[in-house]
Amino acid sequence: MIMDYNSLKVELLCSGVKVPDEIWYRKGGAGPAAGRYFQVPSGAAVNIPVQGKFIERSPFRLESVDGKWALYRDDDFYCEMTPIPQPEFYKMKTTNGIPMWKIALVHGTDCLSTTVDQTCIYWRDGRQCKFCGIELSLEYDTTIKRKSPEQLVEVTRATKDEGRANHMTLTIGSQDTPAEECAILSETVRSIKEQFDIPIHVQTEPVEKMHMEELFASGVDTIGIHIESFDKDIMKKICPGKSGIYYDGVWQSAVDIFGRDQVSSFVIAGLGETDENIIQGCEMLSSIGIVPFVVPLRPIAKTPLADWSPPLPERMIPLYRRIGEIMKRNGVSPLRNRAGCVRCGCCSAISEFF
Ligand code: SF4
Ligand code: SF4
Repeated sequence: MIMDYNSLKVELLCSGVKVPDEIWYRKGGAGPAAGRYFQVPSGAAVNIPVQGKFIERSPFRLESVDGKWALYRDDDFYCEMTPIPQPEFYKMKTTNGIPMWKIALVHGTDCLSTTVDQTCIYWRDGRQCKFCGIELSLEYDTTIKRKSPEQLVEVTRATKDEGRANHMTLTIGSQDTPAEECAILSETVRSIKEQFDIPIHVQTEPVEKMHMEELFASGVDTIGIHIESFDKDIMKKICPGKSGIYYDGVWQSAVDIFGRDQVSSFVIAGLGETDENIIQGCEMLSSIGIVPFVVPLRPIAKTPLADWSPPLPERMIPLYRRIGEIMKRNGVSPLRNRAGCVRCGCCSAISEFF
């Protein structure tokens, strides 16, 4: 039997897996949380959802048998899966006594990731994005509000020492002003780059050109400016805080500053949009040189979308094929991206279908 592991990755992202209770996973946080990292037999890494109502309907189950992880589909053995090991530094503390795993985590195999400031202004007035769990990590006490440059330098050193930091993702909740957001990120990146030669990805709201130049000057290699959905009505409903933000000129400036393939945007599939809406948006982004990082919705516990389901793999597999063709036709390559979510690739199958 020939196994199609690219499609398997999509099925896992969309259906999730049932796992034994004792398995550790990231419960809240920015981006697609509540997942566990495994590699499918082709070597592709996946951030597999393991929590949520939709998991009850998943045909997949993971079981540890004789020290190996077996994936079952409808109770039949499907393939062996390789868990990506937890880094050793999770057992260490910073010099001011904070467990290092509260400062940053390794995503996938080698992407050291953190949310530099775990708060977002839209959570102050109930206008937060309905899929987002950024402040839930504070409730769960799994992180701290603000990570200082010194703490991040320390954790980067520990992670590099064990060979688990080849690139970084630094995200941040929306701050009072874009200037503040970029100043926090720039200061952090500058401190890390003074010590280490490591490509760094940052994620921000759309910001003015001068702020992107400031980020670039501090050493940022790649940037994520996330549109979430190209459907304006959905944005009003799902992302009330972000829905009025202006993106148009920002895309081109970002590519002018960071280069083709080094700018990306999360696009969430499964919010009620049509395939054509996603396709047209990906066409627009790719035509400018931006990588459309299309991810299936990840419903996170305690968020308003907790009981939603991700899109079906039967929808996402052909969609990913079309997005791969669009990127090729426009000369955009996720494989050339130097740092962050696109290079990590655990939450999307765009690289596999490219
Ligand atoms: S802007 Fe939206 S996705 Fe980003 S941190 Fe705030 S609520 Fe979350
Ligand atoms: S794709 Fe981004 S959010 Fe997903 S695991 Fe990788 S670094 Fe984290």
